[in-house]
Amino acid sequence: MSRADKSEELFSRAVACLSGGVNSPVRAFKAVGGTPIYIEKGEGPFITDVDGNKYLDFCCSWGPLILGHAHPEVVRSIHESALKGTSFGTVHENEVLLGEEIKRLCPHIDLLRFVSSGTEAVMSAIRLARGYTHRDKIIKYSGCYHGHSDYLLASAGSGLATLGIPASAGVPEDFARHTLVAPLDDEEFIRELFGKYGDEIAAIVIEPVPANNGLLLQRPEYLRFLREITKRHGALLIFDEVISGFRVGPSGAAGLYGIEPDLCTYGKVVGGGLPVGAFGGKEDIMMMLAPNGPVYQAGTLSGNPLAMACGLTTLKFLDEHKGWEQLERKSAGFADSLKEAVGDMPVSIIRNGSIFWIAFQENAPRKAEEIAEGAAEKYGILFGEALKAGIYMAPSAYEVGFISMVHSDGDLSVAAGKIGEILRGIYN
Ligand code: PMP
Repeated sequence: MSRADKSEELFSRAVACLSGGVNSPVRAFKAVGGTPIYIEKGEGPFITDVDGNKYLDFCCSWGPLILGHAHPEVVRSIHESALKGTSFGTVHENEVLLGEEIKRLCPHIDLLRFVSSGTEAVMSAIRLARGYTHRDKIIKYSGCYHGHSDYLLASAGSGLATLGIPASAGVPEDFARHTLVAPLDDEEFIRELFGKYGDEIAAIVIEPVPANNGLLLQRPEYLRFLREITKRHGALLIFDEVISGFRVGPSGAAGLYGIEPDLCTYGKVVGGGLPVGAFGGKEDIMMMLAPNGPVYQAGTLSGNPLAMACGLTTLKFLDEHKGWEQLERKSAGFADSLKEAVGDMPVSIIRNGSIFWIAFQENAPRKAEEIAEGAAEKYGILFGEALKAGIYMAPSAYEVGFISMVHSDGDLSVAAGKIGEILRGIYN
């Protein structure tokens, strides 16, 4: 039997019932080749596929699993919650407890609302920003991802003369018309956009730690500049912290950089592996939401009891066990081992907290336009060889890796050595 018989069989059945065989496109392994591996179970930092292969998991469900797979306390809280019913469609205690916990960790949040995904969180925050400012246009960045709502799937047009153009079939040009797309790390570009459209811009939305097109770490002064220019023009600053929230520190990137955005969006870690998103911020803005104000937003499963229990247990565990300090220490050690293993190869190891990215270029890029071409091919080799060596990385060159609290120093050090060996094979 080959090591992927069952996975291959499942995938061939999947393509006959699920579009493309998957429920989210990158899972199809198109960017790295081969067929997806079907996961049977996760335990701590490991996943095991249906063919019995075990991998050290650096994907961690794309970020939510900051305590690793099937953490006993998380599982217990879900179990206890499920025994009391899976959904009520009305208010319950754990949503209050999670709301209070988030407010405690994030002093810049006055009020919150829970939704069921990151996409919903950003979509709702932008509607709110538009409702609050009575303006239509938003600025987003090339190299940042904010979920798949229509007007956020916009690409840069040709310079300032052109507004966003749809980045997906099915998005009307009219919808992308109100989206202005800017490169990261470029103050002048933003100044010009405000010069041209100043009183029409409702908000700038940015991932303060851009982690969807590699890891494009921003200069703190650039983020401070955004705070300043939005304030000056009566626009809102929205930090999309779906990845960075409760990951890079207890109060996310806002706390890390000491910048108070008007609104923040959360997802991933806030749900600890169950579907949760949230958005929140300043009281006067959040009070514009229905039922208090005119901006409509709702959800049948929003604040789902199981999801709230899972998120609450995850955040409390991190807080009570000095989670962020531990993550910083072990992730720094892993990055150091990787750097040592990489030696003088033209590869950069980029990291913020427990998020890392291996860039196939000497200098760390700060914007999408600085990412070297040809990474996908090299990454395809790294991904495939890593799988054979028992390491699961995200199936795309432009996705970051995540470290959980249960990745041991020993496992991380062995993995760094193996990745270094594979990279040497690629460059020799
Ligand atoms: N914003 C950011 C920064 C994200 O990374 C993602 C998902 N990767 C989203 C929004 C969308 O979240 P979801 O996939 O939960 O809809």
